[in-house]
Amino acid sequence: MTDALEISHISKTYGQDAAQVHALRDVSLAVGAGSLVAIMGASGSGKSTLLTIAGGLEAPDAGEVRIAGVRLSDQSSEARARLRRRTVGYVFQDYNLLAGLTAAENVALPLELDGIPARRARVMALASLDQLGLGARAENFSDQLSGGERQRVAIARAVIGDRRVLLADEPSGALDSASSEGVMRLLLAACRRGVAAVMVTHDAQLASWADRVVFLRDGRIVDQTSSPSGPESLLQLQPERRR
Ligand code: ADP
Ligand code: MG
Repeated sequence: MTDALEISHISKTYGQDAAQVHALRDVSLAVGAGSLVAIMGASGSGKSTLLTIAGGLEAPDAGEVRIAGVRLSDQSSEARARLRRRTVGYVFQDYNLLAGLTAAENVALPLELDGIPARRARVMALASLDQLGLGARAENFSDQLSGGERQRVAIARAVIGDRRVLLADEPSGALDSASSEGVMRLLLAACRRGVAAVMVTHDAQLASWADRVVFLRDGRIVDQTSSPSGPESLLQLQPERRR
């Protein structure tokens, strides 16, 4: 079976000579439809680099990425951009909402960029915001939303349309624990609909919601846990919440 996201033997180096940084070294990771993988690791361990390469925003020096079976390096840059727009959703720590747009406009934007008529994109965006309990906020601009609401809008935008892969880089980094839980519920709901999700987090408690936790150190995967046999420290955090 084809995994929604398949990363094989990826390496990435930045800089030259003495300033060279091995951001990733021979990293492989496969994420099936409907599963959530959490990535943990110290600052600088390569987590964000892994996500940008997984989503085709950056090319690896070696190795390959397949999304829904399609090898990114085989695609023209145009085809790759289309795949990124249609198939991959991103959520960043700082939400990246466009300040001049309302919540509904932010969510509709990727659809419109992909050629869906504005009216239809708006209907889809409103439905998606409704589902996330943000119907009443649809016409608010992002500076009129709380941090938790902004992040939920960012997730609505990332999963709208026919996304197969969701990449979230510390999506609840700036949120209080109640809002973080809301964000996790949305990620898990997307997974239940068949989205393959990869989430970077510093929070072991949030990571314990994932099907698998991958630890990065100095650009290498040093440990992987998969439920139900992960390290006890992780499993004991929130056992009642595990799926
Ligand atoms: P993390 O997200 O785990 O904090 P990153 O993936 O952002 O780690 O970075 C991994 C390493 O690669 C770090 O040493 C970082 O300084 C370096 N790095 C990341 N992006 C760049 C870049 N564009 N240019 C040079 N070095 C970079
Ligand atoms: Mg990072």
